[in-house]
This record gives sequence, C-alpha cells and structure tokens, in this order.
Amino acid sequence: MRRCKFCGSEAYVQLRSPRLAMCEEHYKEYVERKVERTIHRYKMFRKENKILVAVSGGKDAIAVALTLHALGYEFECLHINLGIREYSEYSEKIVRQQCEKLGVPLHVLYLRALVGRGVGELKTRREVCSYCGTTKRYLMNKFAWDNDYDVIATGHNLDDESAFLLGNVLHWNTGYLARQGPYLPGGNALVARAKPLYELTNYEIAKYVALFDMNLTTEPCPHAKGAKSILYAKVLNEIEEVSPGTKLNFVKGFLKNRELFQEEPVELRACRVCGMPTLREVCSFCRMWGVKEELKLQVEHLQDSEQHDEN
Ligand code: SF4
Ligand code: ZN
Ligand code: ZN
Repeated sequence: MRRCKFCGSEAYVQLRSPRLAMCEEHYKEYVERKVERTIHRYKMFRKENKILVAVSGGKDAIAVALTLHALGYEFECLHINLGIREYSEYSEKIVRQQCEKLGVPLHVLYLRALVGRGVGELKTRREVCSYCGTTKRYLMNKFAWDNDYDVIATGHNLDDESAFLLGNVLHWNTGYLARQGPYLPGGNALVARAKPLYELTNYEIAKYVALFDMNLTTEPCPHAKGAKSILYAKVLNEIEEVSPGTKLNFVKGFLKNRELFQEEPVELRACRVCGMPTLREVCSFCRMWGVKEELKLQVEHLQDSEQHDEN
C-alpha cells in the first residue's frame, strides 16, 4: 500500500509529476497551495479584489470556487443559462445546488430572456460552439463590467491550456498565441480574466473535487461534438504518460517566449449598440443576436430577466 509522503497514512492519490503519494488531507492542502501559488505567480488578484467565478456545473468551475473558498477569498458566482432547453435547466439546477452548499452568492443570466433565443437557434454559418463561446465571453465580461468586478476567474486547466496551445502552434495562429495565458489584464471595458487552475491537470482536479460531496453535471451538451482539441489533449496525454511533466513544461516554456508573438495593439472602438470594445461598428455579440439596444446587466436588472424567462 502506498503511504502519504507527509504523514505516512494510506495514500489517496499518487502523482507522477512531481512523484508524490498523499493522503486525502495532505492532497487537499497540496492542491489549495498550488492554486494559491498560481494566483500569486501570475499576479491574478488579491483578497481585497471583487472576484467573479464563472460556474457551469462541471468539476473545473466548482474546483475554482472550492479552492478560493478554502483559501479565504470572497467571491460571487455567475452562471449563464444558454437556453439549450433541458440541458440548460439541468446545468442550472446543479450550479444552484453547488453554490448553495458552498454558501456563495450566485447570479444567473438567461440568454433567452436577454435576446429572445437560445444557443442552437441562431441561423448562421458559424459552428454552434464557436458562437456559443463568443456569447459566453461577452455576457461574462458585460456582467462583470456592469457590476464593477475586478476580475473573472474561470476553470481552464492545464489539459485545456496545453491542448489549446498545441492546436495554435500546429496552425501557427500567432494572434491567438499572443492572447493566450493564465492571466489577461483588463482595460478598455474588458475585465481581467484569470485561470487559477492553470497548473493543475484534469486528473488532479477530479481527485480534489471528489473529496467534497458535490453534485456535478454529467450530461454532455447536445451540441458538443468531437472537437480537434480533444485529439490534441489525447496526444498530449500519451506524451505525458511516457514523459511526465511535459504539459507543464510546454505551457511554461511558451509563457517565457510569449513576447515573440506579441502584435501591434489594434485600435478598438465602442460598439454602436452596447459600447463594448470591438473592431467593427457593431460588436459580434450584438450583430449575431440582432441586439438593438444595450443589455443592462446590473444586478438590479437581472431580476427582471429571471421573471421574463419564466413566462
Ligand atoms: Fe456551448 Fe458547445 Fe459547450 Fe454546448 S458544447 S455549451 S454549444 S460551447
Ligand atoms: Zn498525509
Ligand atoms: Zn455590442
């Protein structure tokens, strides 16, 4: 039987990089310390900042909330109900249970109440996941901006980030490479974005969350299909198997050389409809959803949106 390196009791987890066996208690501490180091290393935020955690019902988002809670950060959560019928209702139910259990305030935005339709109901040549991503990023940022949050924390982890990096390197998407990283500073109506799980793998996060009695979403989104990033993640897992620590070295090496991909800053202007920064006259969110006037996402307006959704 494997023993915890710190106390000698039965090991709960055995990591390969670093080579460490730990009991439940010491593993919990290990993950929380690692998240705290990531927050400090990349100067993500401090205790006095107003922090918003984006929650979906999945293990990564709740791991952000659980670790920040354990580390003594105060924060609020935001969930976006994308209007994907039963799937969105189900995800929202799980998120509500999680936040209630943790005792943290939760805000919910209802896409259908805001723009009249849900994800999957838009006539466009863009892939559903592509415009869904734009929609989520826009609403998250607009909500955080309208309510004066300093930073949005998301559940992106080392597996997501290394797969995304590999995809962008393979296609030399230098524009994406310039904007990739654990922390994206804010400015010009964009709220800073932080990824506190940047150095934790899927496996490490799953083992951490399993220590808490939390319901998680298990149903996949009906629009999810085999994205290329799944293939990249699989390839990286195979390399990691032979050479533990590769993923972390890959992203850290990239961060050291990120300035190679920096581009001339582009001049953004304010969207004619909503005032958010954009390259065009009207931002892609307002264009694709046909929004005619600015969505007011201040918390006091949210209650109207919830009531509207129930009708
Ligand atoms: Fe949106 Fe695609 Fe994720 Fe579904 S799978 S929530 S459509 S990004
Ligand atoms: Zn121990
Ligand atoms: Zn706009």
